[in-house]
Amino acid sequence: MNHLESQLDYPLGDTLPALGSVHALAPGLGWLRMPLPFALDHINLWLIRDEHDGRAGWSAVDCGVANDTTRAAWEQVLASSTDGQGLLRVFATHCHPDHMGLSGWLCSKFDAPLWATAGEYAFARMMSAALPGVDGSAALPHFQRHGVLDPAVVEKLAERRNYYPTLVPAVPHAYTRMQDGNQVRIGAHDWTVITGFGHSPEHAALYCAGLKVLISGDMVLPRISTNVSVFAIEPEGNPLQQYLDSLGKFGHLPADTLVLPSHGKPFRGLHTRIAQLRDHHSARLAEVMQACQQPMCAADIVPIMFRRALDVHQLTFALGEALAHLHKLWFDGILRREKGEDGILRFHLI
Ligand SMILES: [Zn+2]
Repeated sequence: MNHLESQLDYPLGDTLPALGSVHALAPGLGWLRMPLPFALDHINLWLIRDEHDGRAGWSAVDCGVANDTTRAAWEQVLASSTDGQGLLRVFATHCHPDHMGLSGWLCSKFDAPLWATAGEYAFARMMSAALPGVDGSAALPHFQRHGVLDPAVVEKLAERRNYYPTLVPAVPHAYTRMQDGNQVRIGAHDWTVITGFGHSPEHAALYCAGLKVLISGDMVLPRISTNVSVFAIEPEGNPLQQYLDSLGKFGHLPADTLVLPSHGKPFRGLHTRIAQLRDHHSARLAEVMQACQQPMCAADIVPIMFRRALDVHQLTFALGEALAHLHKLWFDGILRREKGEDGILRFHLI
């Protein structure tokens, strides 16, 4: 545990649900953990006892990626922990593959509707269909424009074409829309939708005042900072500003809220964690400003912000993150952006 984590309270200690089993957090609220084939090796999912359309059963929040291990673990959970009633609804916090991966499979298995925001649903459909602009081939010129020139890396990036559809082969063809501020009744409790931006198009966190529980998705994580990236589909975006603004939307929640994050362990200390995240980004912004006393492209910034070896998957996130910090400073009027004769975009302190 690092010193920042030691400022948070983990009420369950080192307890982790075993693969295929559910850990009860409160009556009718369960925690599952699924493995992921990335450096970030797990995702937390949540089961909530529900009543919908006159039927009793359970609803899931997030799905895990589409692979045999996750499907087998779900089969075990469904057989042992849903009173034989199966799923009534599938809620997705956002479109990323670890959250939306098995949505098609789970929804069709139970004829259960998918609940999501319009932004997340639309992006999931676009990326699952590998439409031009959101397939792997669109990312390559984006990365090249920002200084990724190493031929071995370029080749690997070019091969990533089918990354999203492999992990999210199907998204339901219809959905139920969630919007900011909606009250969603799930079983015995109302949950409030709190949308957030900067990590994904229209992320939905769910807050239950009755239980004092926040399902934070990827917006607030206890151990790692949420990825905030400029992507090829929106090359002129300012996602870091959007993310920092979104953190403010959790400021009114009670200090002793139990936060259920998508990665890491349930914790208390929401306001402390938000302050830590703000400090983290302020420190990164200061580093980037310092570096930009000379013209720097995003690829030049990556080793300054990330002082460890990165695989290609991690590099894409790191580059997007470096660019998000450069763009905030650029939007704030602190940096200017210039295109070199080599076609690469560089940022320079004004
Ligand atoms: Zn995510």
